[in-house]
Amino acid sequence: MPAYIMALDQGTSSSRCILFTPDGRIASSAAREFPSLYPREGWVEQDPMTIWSSQLSVASEAVSRIGAQWSEIAGIGITNQRETVLVWERSTGRPIHNAIVWQCRRTADMCERLKKQGCEKTIKEKTGLLLDPYFSATKLRYILDTVDGAQERAERGELCFGTVDSWLMWQLSGGKIHATDYSNASRTMLFDIRRCDWDPELLSLFRIPRAILPALCPSSGLFGYTDPAVLGARLPIGGVAGDQQAALFGQCCFAPGQIKNTYGTGGFLLMNTGDAPCITYNGLISTVAWGIGGKICYALEGSVFVAGAAIQWLRDGLRLIESAADSEYMAAKVPDSGGLFVVPAFTGLGAPYWDTDARGMIIGITRATNKYHLIRATLESLAYQTADVIELMERSVQTKIDGLRVDGGAAQNQLLLQFQSDLLGVPLYRPACIETTALGAAYLCGLAVGLYSSEDELRTSRQEDDCFRPAQDAAWRDAHLHGWRRAVRRALGFAAPDPEP
Ligand code: ADP
Repeated sequence: MPAYIMALDQGTSSSRCILFTPDGRIASSAAREFPSLYPREGWVEQDPMTIWSSQLSVASEAVSRIGAQWSEIAGIGITNQRETVLVWERSTGRPIHNAIVWQCRRTADMCERLKKQGCEKTIKEKTGLLLDPYFSATKLRYILDTVDGAQERAERGELCFGTVDSWLMWQLSGGKIHATDYSNASRTMLFDIRRCDWDPELLSLFRIPRAILPALCPSSGLFGYTDPAVLGARLPIGGVAGDQQAALFGQCCFAPGQIKNTYGTGGFLLMNTGDAPCITYNGLISTVAWGIGGKICYALEGSVFVAGAAIQWLRDGLRLIESAADSEYMAAKVPDSGGLFVVPAFTGLGAPYWDTDARGMIIGITRATNKYHLIRATLESLAYQTADVIELMERSVQTKIDGLRVDGGAAQNQLLLQFQSDLLGVPLYRPACIETTALGAAYLCGLAVGLYSSEDELRTSRQEDDCFRPAQDAAWRDAHLHGWRRAVRRALGFAAPDPEP
């Protein structure tokens, strides 16, 4: 019985590696932060070689830290920041441009033009996505437009495009694997999520030659092997998924209606919608959750722009707390927020409000308001925003959720989770292993290499969760949500110019 599964978790700000034992416990881990580059306002890039070298070094570190042997590793699972675009030369592996990161807004004009041409509906129906610079297609178009000769070289098959998973597999295999999994492909805006194939109409819309695209594979299965000259052993790469999808898998949300929220810098809600995508026109995204053994599982995704970032603001902007963890102890000094609401619309508001002109607001201040109320109200805003997105999802799938699985940095905050449970009126489950993203990648790989027989086995071997049960009634919930929505209404449109008199 092999001792470990290696999960490579390549995030936007750091590369991490975790060695899991087959029963899902962390045996070793290593992480390295690396910088993003900001060549202009709103532009975000990363050095492809830094992405790779940081990932390679943490893999070696995680192994050597516990004196493990490469031969003890059953396989590798990869999970990654999604949508980020890389293009490299097939013959040399040399990138022709920096990686353009998902956050980069440089193709906003291109997206506006496509909207004017009326492409939005087709894109939504085929890909489940919004026409937004966030996704890969316009970024790839940008690279092929701006690098000398790139379009011609792409057409001649001399270039490879990939998201970060493809880039890592290419490097790990010494240039033998050029592939991606369905979950990552579903974020490119070039992929038909029903047929699970590159879409000819979208390829022609974005003028993307097929020769540049990676091979498409299920998320769990053999992608190929690592090159011993690169990693020290020939290991199977058996699982690949985008970070949020991997977290959904790591949370064992295998059944339709099951939902998880990651409280990180932003908040990411994903709900399993089973074997059919749920296409909505309310700003939520439909995406491939994973493909396993010929079956595709879909998810509905909604995000909250500012979650843990609001706690960072308390710490770094207002200096009300010294560490994010202090927010819990300080918020607990008052029994409630005393009628105070903080709407952290620092960059506008997403679902369900969709208002780029909304701005942050503190409202409900009285002579009795103190800093603990302010901290508490900020923390509660994470829960209110989450409740808003969940309500939208429930309306989209026309069912009520019966629980929420949680992870991410701010899910360490018990006060937040209790308030969230009170607000939703359903239990919250926090897994023993909070590293659900990496765990999801490890599970996908473990299934492929035969360490687990089925998803059922994973579900039953899941370690005990902490559970937070609702302790308030419906009247309390309605009053609180009503107060929040009154507050949000006052924050909408604040940055918009005044109408002409
Ligand atoms: P990301 O993956 O987006 O970098 P993490 O999942 O590591 O984020 O979570 C980090 C975020 O969680 C930070 O924004 C931080 O403010 C917040 N955070 C961390 N610990 C706590 C806590 N105990 N209470 C509230 N927020 C927290």
